[in-house]
Amino acid sequence: MELLKQRILKDGIVRPGNVLKVDSFLNHQMDIPLINEIGKEFRHRFEGVPVTRILTIEASGIGIACITAQYFNVPVVFAKKTQSLNLDSALFRTKVQSFTHNRIYDVVLSKKYLTPDDHVLLIDDFLANGNALMGLIDIVKESGATLEGAGIVIEKGFQDGGRRIRNMGVRVESLAIIDSMTEDSLTFR
Ligand code: 5GP
Repeated sequence: MELLKQRILKDGIVRPGNVLKVDSFLNHQMDIPLINEIGKEFRHRFEGVPVTRILTIEASGIGIACITAQYFNVPVVFAKKTQSLNLDSALFRTKVQSFTHNRIYDVVLSKKYLTPDDHVLLIDDFLANGNALMGLIDIVKESGATLEGAGIVIEKGFQDGGRRIRNMGVRVESLAIIDSMTEDSLTFR
């Protein structure tokens, strides 16, 4: 998606540890006209796919998922990161290793909001090593719902997540795939 790539080149900041900061338009301040275009592009790429729910994970996926959901006319559910050990049988649970915070989160979702009748589209801001998506895929499997694919705003193609998830047979549509990045250069696939 050219508009997104140009914005990453203009405003993205590469930080040590292979982290791309996009706080000025996606992760802290949110550029709504841009995210509207992102939502439309996801709709276009998943045209004809029978999505009944969009699933994302706290926190930065939520805004993007909500805007995208308006183009699919379906609810958004987000998996919650929790520290509580409260074993509630009405919850799907999994563990996710966080890329940016270097810790493991317990992630939960109420069984009320994902059923075997659902067709799920996963949405997230970044795909790096694939742990966040793997956690969401676990939850979808546990629920018995059908996974229709994943829409990612920025995939870091030099990390392994995209390959891992696609090798599982999951359709991944990334709007910008970064091949390489350093403090002074960034290239797309
Ligand atoms: P993964 O689980 O694929 O390793 O990482 C995906 C998650 O980590 C995303 O939900 C995103 O929040 C965060 N993340 C991974 N890489 C980056 C990055 O380069 N920049 C930012 N801002 N977040 C990232």
